[in-house]
Amino acid sequence: MKAVRFFGHKDVRVVNDIEKPVPKGDEVLLKIGGAGVCHSDLHIIDEGTVVGTVFTLGHENAGWIEEIGENVEGYKKGDAVLVYGPWGCGHCKPCQQSKENYCDHQSEQAYGGGLGLDGGMADYMLVPSSRLLVPIFDLDPVIAAPLTDAALTPYSAIKRSLPKLMPDEYVVVIGVGGLGHVALQILREISGAAIIACDVTEDKLAFAKELGAAFAINSKDADAAEQILKITGIKKAKVVLDFVGATSTIDLGTKVVSLDGDLTIVGLGGGHYQYSMNGLPFGVSMTNPYWGSRTELMEVVGLARQKKIHIEIEKHKLDDANEVYERMRQGKIKGRAVLIP
Ligand code: NAD
Ligand code: ZN
Ligand code: ZN
Repeated sequence: MKAVRFFGHKDVRVVNDIEKPVPKGDEVLLKIGGAGVCHSDLHIIDEGTVVGTVFTLGHENAGWIEEIGENVEGYKKGDAVLVYGPWGCGHCKPCQQSKENYCDHQSEQAYGGGLGLDGGMADYMLVPSSRLLVPIFDLDPVIAAPLTDAALTPYSAIKRSLPKLMPDEYVVVIGVGGLGHVALQILREISGAAIIACDVTEDKLAFAKELGAAFAINSKDADAAEQILKITGIKKAKVVLDFVGATSTIDLGTKVVSLDGDLTIVGLGGGHYQYSMNGLPFGVSMTNPYWGSRTELMEVVGLARQKKIHIEIEKHKLDDANEVYERMRQGKIKGRAVLIP
């Protein structure tokens, strides 16, 4: 079968000689409908965040059950499912609570398809357990694939700050890409706060306004923080969601977050932050959430089935993976690119 393989630093190749896996025991084989292209792939490819192994990329996957191992119950050939991405041990307390994104054993195992183990940018993908599947019912796997990360990650980040996102408050969203464009819609649907979006191009800022942002600020502007504070007034922004994670965006977040606010850094842009007593308002919680839980993914499916969130999708062939990654490096993708076998 065909697969998009990571061979090492900046070396991604589409190959045709990968054997179609056969599921055994608890394993499930999926026929891939779509595999989303996430910016985290670029951190792997360009910066080597996962090193030393050759594997198939794609950690944002959906498809149809092709074949099940002899221990699998409750699924049959043709069922449409999402693959929950962060694969934990399945046994520790966080895993039992469905929070495999915070599995106790994360530091000692490869933790997911497309993240060290074979992922979904291929005709078929082997999933180690049916525990890691979430049914999508009437949703199309091609369109639904990004729910597993581009929607789940912002959903989980927003949910933890929900009590602070009241209608008299402001929330700042930095980065209106794959994750950010869904974050805006989730905020619009489940919170009351007024949304201020930041990106670096005019088309992304216009897109943000279509998706529910009341204000859109170009974070390249030297006075971006002042522009945001002019909108919020003295109270500042109760929640800042940073989907870039560069030093400049973390710096912007610290300038606009309010007393007792949340500064949530989702982006893995390699930024640095040096704590100093006067650098942050009192009471701020600074967090770096990772993905979301399995049950939160079920909630995200609910949002999509109710048509409260819509993922803006560009469809591409597996063969075009390198071109798509290059467009992502240049910030040229609107919404999410999905590779379709
Ligand atoms: P993307 O490439 O689709 O979008 C990034 C967006 O940020 C683009 O619109 C780009 O124009 C914008 N941007 C770049 N620099 C900016 C700046 N200085 N100010 C404002 N906007 C800027 O990326 P994505 O797939 O949405 O991923 C976003 C980040 O989140 C990546 O770093 C990715 O690795 C990370 N991520 C983290 C998790 C997690 O669990 N923590 C999960 C998925 C992705
Ligand atoms: Zn991702
Ligand atoms: Zn675990």
